[in-house]
Amino acid sequence: MIKNQNQFTRRTFIKKAGLTTSLFSLYPLSYSSIFSNSTDDKRIIVIGAGLAGLSCAYELDQAGFNVMLIEARSRPGGRVNTYRDPFSDNLYSEMGAEYVDSSDTYIQEYCKKFNLKILPAKQYDGVYVKGQTSSIEGLRSGRDLLPFKGTLEGKLFGQEVQYIQKWIDLVKLKGINSPEVQALDRISVEDILKEGGAPKDIIDLYTYANATEETAVPSKMSALYMILSNTRTSNFSENTVEGRILGGNDQLPKTLAQKLGTKIMYNRPLLRLDYNSNGIIATVKEKQRLVQIPAKKCVLAIPASILKNIEINPGFSEEKINCINNQQYGHAMKIAMQYRQRFWDNKNSIGQRVFTDTPLRRVYHFSIDQPGPRGILLSFTSGEDAIKLGKLDNKKRLNIAQNTCRNIWPEAPMFWEKGVVKYWNEDPWVKASYSFAGVGQKGFREILAKPEGPVFFAGEHTAIQRASMNGAIESGMRVTDELKRAESS
Ligand SMILES: Cc1cc2nc3c(=O)[nH]c(=O)nc-3n(C[C@H](O)[C@H](O)[C@H](O)COP(=O)(O)OP(=O)(O)OC[C@H]3O[C@@H](n4cnc5c(N)ncnc54)[C@H](O)[C@@H]3O)c2cc1C
Repeated sequence: MIKNQNQFTRRTFIKKAGLTTSLFSLYPLSYSSIFSNSTDDKRIIVIGAGLAGLSCAYELDQAGFNVMLIEARSRPGGRVNTYRDPFSDNLYSEMGAEYVDSSDTYIQEYCKKFNLKILPAKQYDGVYVKGQTSSIEGLRSGRDLLPFKGTLEGKLFGQEVQYIQKWIDLVKLKGINSPEVQALDRISVEDILKEGGAPKDIIDLYTYANATEETAVPSKMSALYMILSNTRTSNFSENTVEGRILGGNDQLPKTLAQKLGTKIMYNRPLLRLDYNSNGIIATVKEKQRLVQIPAKKCVLAIPASILKNIEINPGFSEEKINCINNQQYGHAMKIAMQYRQRFWDNKNSIGQRVFTDTPLRRVYHFSIDQPGPRGILLSFTSGEDAIKLGKLDNKKRLNIAQNTCRNIWPEAPMFWEKGVVKYWNEDPWVKASYSFAGVGQKGFREILAKPEGPVFFAGEHTAIQRASMNGAIESGMRVTDELKRAESS
């Protein structure tokens, strides 16, 4: 175990850490002096340059800390990933995080500060389920009916509410922290819907509606979380107003990275972390060698799905390890399709943002703010459909995408040019989409966010507003405050 920062020479490190693992026998080891003052108590290493790590490093830097941000990839942004190269005419597409909603205050504040404009996105206008087309307007007016048993007229999202009303009332009557309400965490969304008398169609519709947003399946989602979402007025629906950063969401992480300048080091995955009360040593891979970077404190801003495979010496507390190992994550795939013409604008088109029960789940005109005549249709597939498509190669995934678009817009094949796929569960630095509240995981977030000695934790999975860009920044801000408080105490 580490005893004293000053003793961190290559020899003592190897000896003290008992480096007998194959990792350390595979690569030559060296010692880094990236911090000019090796005794400065303000030396902080942040691992992971997604929005959590970037915002944290940026705020710490502004506050006068001696910060260094270490990233495995060759770019900043993590799950904020705007693709530009595959497309013609300077078109771009968000293959990761896309929408900013009206309650995303951290994103909005950064955008204002860095002169980035958020434009409202298109709301849902078309519905293609069970092979039938209808429109949101038709559903609202009662002209179109959803072909799912047990649904009410007039809306698409929120059809499950009528079957869970008694538990929503329970929250209002007894309060969130009452044992009866908290016990709902032991039941899945699927089970509580069945208990409330919902037919299978309602569970299916929930799968295509809210569960798709969460990239999860109803049998794994906590009923508590669903009930609590429905006690708030802001639960996601076809009426939710969302925006996107004009010119691409990647401008936000790129701006933060630019502000940090040489304080970010790319292409350096963290492989091991050693810590004690005096400080930390991060062992990162740099080309074909290992480099140890000592610092006073460290922020782990990487997904739990990656952290669980990193060597930590000594290990974290049992409760932390349990949450890191078991935190539920979903599955998501996006497919961007470039077409020569924007046929979805035609008079008889079903719409520009279509809700479906096809393998693509959501299909919509992404390039609405970009000049034509070419355009991009983007799909967002999640849950079991993402897993199924994930088992196929890219050619087959694209075939399914093209065929689905042809079913929705029959003229689509005439204008097809090319497509590109991003399946996040095969991305080596996430291996998942984003976290969701699984059955029995109440309290995980608080444990995942809690510091352990000199090690602090950020990332969307540690945020109140989890699974979002805003949540990632929220966590970066929280850790900045924790570190400031630790400094002054
Ligand atoms: C398909 C998809 C759609 C989404 N849609 C939306 C949306 O519409 N709106 C919204 O707000 N959010 C959306 N999100 C969620 C949002 O992208 C995330 O919540 C947020 O970007 C996570 O930020 P983060 O910093 O916590 O994690 P990440 O962005 O994952 O950042 C973690 C960083 O750590 C790096 N890293 C990992 N392992 C190591 C290692 N060993 N060493 C060094 N670095 C490492 C990674 O490369 C990455 O850069 C979406 C996500 C996906 C995947």
